Amino acid sequence: MNNHLSERINNMATSATLAMAAKARELRGQGKDIIGLSLGEPDFNIPDFIKDAAKKAIDENYSSYSPVDGYADLKQAISNKFKRDNNLDYGLSQIVVSTGAKQSLANIAMVMLNKGDEVILPAPYWVSYSDIVKLAEGVPVEVPTSIDTDFKMTPEQLEAAITPKTKMMWFSSPCNPSGSVYNEEELKGLAEVLKKHPNIFVVSDEIYEHINFRGGHISIAGIEGMYDRTITVNGVSKAFAMTGWRIGYIGAAEWIVKACTKFQGQITSGANAIAQRATITALEAPVSKIQFMIDEFHKRRDLILGLLGEIEGFKLNVPEGAFYVFPDISSFFGKTLKGTKINNASDFALYLLENANVATVTGEAFGNPNCIRISYAASEKELREAISRIKAVL
Ligand code: PMP
Ligand code: GLU
Repeated sequence: MNNHLSERINNMATSATLAMAAKARELRGQGKDIIGLSLGEPDFNIPDFIKDAAKKAIDENYSSYSPVDGYADLKQAISNKFKRDNNLDYGLSQIVVSTGAKQSLANIAMVMLNKGDEVILPAPYWVSYSDIVKLAEGVPVEVPTSIDTDFKMTPEQLEAAITPKTKMMWFSSPCNPSGSVYNEEELKGLAEVLKKHPNIFVVSDEIYEHINFRGGHISIAGIEGMYDRTITVNGVSKAFAMTGWRIGYIGAAEWIVKACTKFQGQITSGANAIAQRATITALEAPVSKIQFMIDEFHKRRDLILGLLGEIEGFKLNVPEGAFYVFPDISSFFGKTLKGTKINNASDFALYLLENANVATVTGEAFGNPNCIRISYAASEKELREAISRIKAVL
């Protein structure tokens, strides 16, 4: 707490995923052999055809500010992508390109929420939702789910969480951190409840849509009655391994898009010009060009489930997408391991870091205190070694 800083920043939590990644980096710097399974970041290089597009953009002098909401031909590529992959019709005036999906989410919070507006977050939720909502003076309302319902919120739970102050509901499918994927029936169930509450808007974070091992990604905006009140968020960080290039985007009603553009115009201007040009090439490519990464994640998912399944005390769901497992490790609470008392998931994650040299993230950061998140966006060799170390210290 620093009295010279704003209450806003003093009250904000540090991103737990980024903090753990920084901690792992620091320990590595001290010579420790840390295996980092904390950050949700593909370990692949950006495919060459996308890199080539970026090099071409540099040579073609894409060096000026872009339009605040993104280049028109990029928005056209996004519009085509929404149609091709999601059967959603978003025209160019319904799209804003931003500096990562994280900024897309921050824009939405800042333009949609007034002080005290409630935002329903089925928990576990992605780490930054809660602090982004709070930054905009909204109130996160967590709806706890458990491994027994594959970490999905039921229509009854949604209904029970709604109050006259509910303004929005935010969720990701495939979900970070649980890997759960909502099927059409489940989304229809949620939509049925929302029909009775026409003033509630939905943020559907679909950044993992391609990393789906079941196939058949469903966008809630395509469910009857949901299109006008859904903000569909997506980006290229995950499927195209372009995390550092920072491009995200939304499809939404024109008035929301206009507001996000106005906000972004005062905060960041448009997103990085070179990365925008490369994103056109990425989005125009057939999904078959990135299938090798999806297949690899699928293989690793099976590998890590098998390896973790051998450790007594880990309770697992079968994630159908993204690249995380979210084991319930509450059976260790109250135990003492190598002289360390494990009271909660944060103690457990710290124990693994200090004793097994494996970085994971506590589930508390995702609104579930019984679990830890393990990212399997790492090589098979690292995964085997990490899980064998974890097993040894437990
Ligand atoms: N949503 C989810 C669910 C995520 O896991 C991430 C990961 N960074 C983001 C949004 C933000 O992605 P980015 O800002 O890299 O586009
Ligand atoms: N989305 C990734 C994660 O959950 C990247 C880190 C972040 O942006 O917080 O680990």
